[in-house]
This record gives sequence, structure tokens and C-alpha cells, in this order.
Amino acid sequence: MVNIQLLGGVGEIGGNKFLIRDGDSKLLLDFGMSLGLRGRFFSEPFLAPRDGQGLISLLSHSHIDHAMCISLLNRKIPVYCGETTLAILRTLSEMRQKGFENDLDGLDFRTFRTGDKISLGNIQLEPIHVDHSVPGSYGFLVHTSSGTIAYSGDFRAHGSKSTLTTDFVDNAKKSPHEIFLCEGTNLVRGDLRTEQEVLEKSEHVIRKTTGLVLASFSSADIDRLRTFHEIAEKSDRILALSMKQAYLLRSLSKDKHLEVPDVLKDPHITVYQRTKKTYYHWEKDILGQASVKTSKDIREMQDKVILASSSYDMNEVLDIQPGPGGAFINSSSEPFNEEMEIDHERFINWLNHFGLPMYQIHSSGHMMPTELRETIGQIQPKRLVPIHTEQPELYRLFVKDLTKVELGTKGSTVEL
Ligand SMILES: [Zn+2]
Repeated sequence: MVNIQLLGGVGEIGGNKFLIRDGDSKLLLDFGMSLGLRGRFFSEPFLAPRDGQGLISLLSHSHIDHAMCISLLNRKIPVYCGETTLAILRTLSEMRQKGFENDLDGLDFRTFRTGDKISLGNIQLEPIHVDHSVPGSYGFLVHTSSGTIAYSGDFRAHGSKSTLTTDFVDNAKKSPHEIFLCEGTNLVRGDLRTEQEVLEKSEHVIRKTTGLVLASFSSADIDRLRTFHEIAEKSDRILALSMKQAYLLRSLSKDKHLEVPDVLKDPHITVYQRTKKTYYHWEKDILGQASVKTSKDIREMQDKVILASSSYDMNEVLDIQPGPGGAFINSSSEPFNEEMEIDHERFINWLNHFGLPMYQIHSSGHMMPTELRETIGQIQPKRLVPIHTEQPELYRLFVKDLTKVELGTKGSTVEL
């Protein structure tokens, strides 16, 4: 008998946790933090399985709502993930404060690439890359003794690497499957903007801006970083990255597939040194290697800089003292970026204080409703369970002509 227990990620965005059981084989699809309900699930005994026998865990990508809770896993449970995901998890963990929610010590990581097959008792797993707002994202085909389960992870069809998603869909089409666990983040936030449009619109704003440009985007969104880097080159500005972004970028530069700009040598990249009394080891490390600018430097070259920043950096902006004619470009879909520190109202007050108009220019990491229908139509699953959405009923009505939709609740079980 095969079943899927929906432990998290149904009726909510994030907190993905799905336990697939096939006889003695057990597979945990993602182990993410439930952003909204974190406080209520903040208890180690609740999350840590006592017996890891026959269980493996599998991560689709490195976003906290899919991966953050692995810190709580029993160390006997192997954690499978892509190589890039592991590099990101390790680097971010190094930069975060250590604690029971951030402890990767002793975890048995095993990496995979597209084309690999992983066997677990009756279960055969096929990871296939997808395009998402963080590199190294995967969807999965889980072949069980009662048929195939497809899992979208988080994916999109309008990104700069949309062919990755096409590969996933093509593979999923080939093996008829019973159930598709498919994300629906964007059912009420449809805005079909491509990365190219983000580039064109941001470039337009930046070319016309005579003062300081602040740009806010997720640290691990490498596509977006490339976009602002390209604009910096074209508009003769320098992209000033946060120490965190720079440290992550240096770590990812070891992966040749990702083609990230060289944070240490690129003439259009510098690292912004926050004003602090003491610096962490990793901060000293990157500051010692890269070209560095302080708030005083930036103050004197406002029309020559794109400063990557978020609401967290407003104290720094106070020291920079932006002159007239600046701009703030918000290029993330708060509150779903991993930093989560935005307090919108307070932030708007800061922008008012500095006289910085805000532009919202973003391309989502998630599938748009029209593309979602097309994808489901192509894959033709017998049944579908909406995940990673706050609107499962809307989802059901939207695609009920294409497949049988089953709305699970948290903790419920779906039989194959
Ligand atoms: Zn994600």
C-alpha cells in the first residue's frame, strides 16, 4: 500500500513536508519551515522523528520554506539534495546564527543531479531540474509500487531558464502517473513578467535616475543578481553587494554551470561594508578579498552605484545621506523572500524620510495561472493535490476540467 501524508504545505504557502510510504520505505519530500505557523511548531520533539529506519529525506531546493527544518532531523536520516542546494545551505548556515533551527552538523547529505536514479526499497526516485528563483531547484518523479507520484517543488515557466521546467514536464508526461503534488502560489497574484522585462524596466529607471539607486532582491536569487549586474555594466554604475550576497556569490562561483559574475575581480562589483563594531569570521574573510566600499564612499559616488539593500539596511542609508533624485527598486515578492525582515509600514516611513520613490519591478519564481493550466494539461495526472497555495478551492475550480483535484488538509493522508 502506498500513501502520502500531507504534513505541511497544504492550504499554506511554504512549510512543505510530505511523507510518502511504500511498505517499509518512507520518503520525506521537503522539510520546510511553515512561515506563518512557525511559532506553533517550534518544538523539537514534535518535528524530530525518533526512528529514522527506512526513511530518507529529499529536498527540492534551498528556500527556508522547503529546507530549513532539516536542522531538526534525526541524523540517521540521509538528506538528498542537488549539489547547488547543498552549497547554498552550507554557506547560508555558516552566516546565520547557530541554534537548533540552524544546525547542519552531523547531517548525512547525499547529492544528486538530473539523470540520477535513487533507489529506496520499492521506491525509485528521479530528480529533474526546474526553473525557480534560486539555482539548483528540482521537481521529482517518485515511482512507487502503486504508480508514480510527481512533485513540482517550486517552479515557473517564464524564467530565464524555463527550458529546465520544460525538461521536467517532458519527463513527467512520459510516465503516466497517479498523483501530481503541484504548487499554486500565484493563483491570486498573477503578474507575468519575465526576467528580461525586469532588466528592461529596471534599466529604464536606473538610466533616468540621477542619484543613488537602492535595489532590494533575495540574496540567493542569482538570476536577479545577474540582471542588476548587467544593468550596472550598461549604465556605468557599480553594483554594491551586501557582505552576505558577496560571500554566497563567491561560494557559488565554484560551480561552473551557474556562470555567476566573479565577485573578487569584476570591475562592476564591490562589497558594501556595513558599519559594525566587530565582524564575523566570514565577513572578515570576504572583506579581506573583495573591493570594498563604506557608507562614506557611497555618499560620494551616489550617481555611480546600485546599492543592493533591504529594509534591514536603513540605518546604513542614514549614513549615506541620499541626495535628491534617487530611487528604491523593490525586486522581490515580500514576504516570501528568505530574509523576511520587511516591516512594510516602517520601511515606507524610511523611504519618505530619504525622499526615495519606490518601484516594484519583479518576476516571480512561481508558475503563473495560465502556465499552470497548460502544464497540468500536458502532464495529465489522474489526480492532483494542490500544495503551496492559500487558495486550494480556487485551484480546484480552476483546473477541475483537467484532472480530479483532491484537497488534503494538514495531517491527512492520500491513498494511491
Ligand atoms: Zn522556493
